[in-house]
Amino acid sequence: MAGEPQADCLFCKIVTGDVPATIVRETDTTVAFRDINPQAPTHVLVIPRAHYADAAALAAAAPELAADVLREAGAVAADEKLEAHGYRVVFNTGSGAGQTVFHAHAHVLGGRGLQWPPG
Ligand code: 5GP
Repeated sequence: MAGEPQADCLFCKIVTGDVPATIVRETDTTVAFRDINPQAPTHVLVIPRAHYADAAALAAAAPELAADVLREAGAVAADEKLEAHGYRVVFNTGSGAGQTVFHAHAHVLGGRGLQWPPG
């Protein structure tokens, strides 16, 4: 069922603590943790505690939760002092766009210059 934990989902296991992560922020509905393979000096992932496969599924089924994720992405940027130089919030959606973990997540990237368009 939409939103239910998935036994084979890596990020559901980070939510439960079964897989360790460096958590930087938590709310009742979201968890933010450092990416294991950072692509910038700050690279934090913000996820909903509930399982949705990608950002579109999250926004369609639980728009208030999608807003929580975006709000927390901004809070991470503030905590990490990224705002002065800018930062990027990315939702890779689909394997063709580089999504490898099918539990919705926002990448918060900053701390270096970021090129546009992305690769
Ligand atoms: P995607 O490629 O799906 O957009 O992003 C998945 C992200 O999860 C990647 O940036 C990858 O480095 C990160 N990742 C994969 N496995 C782990 C893990 O076990 N712990 C953490 N903290 N990040 C992970």
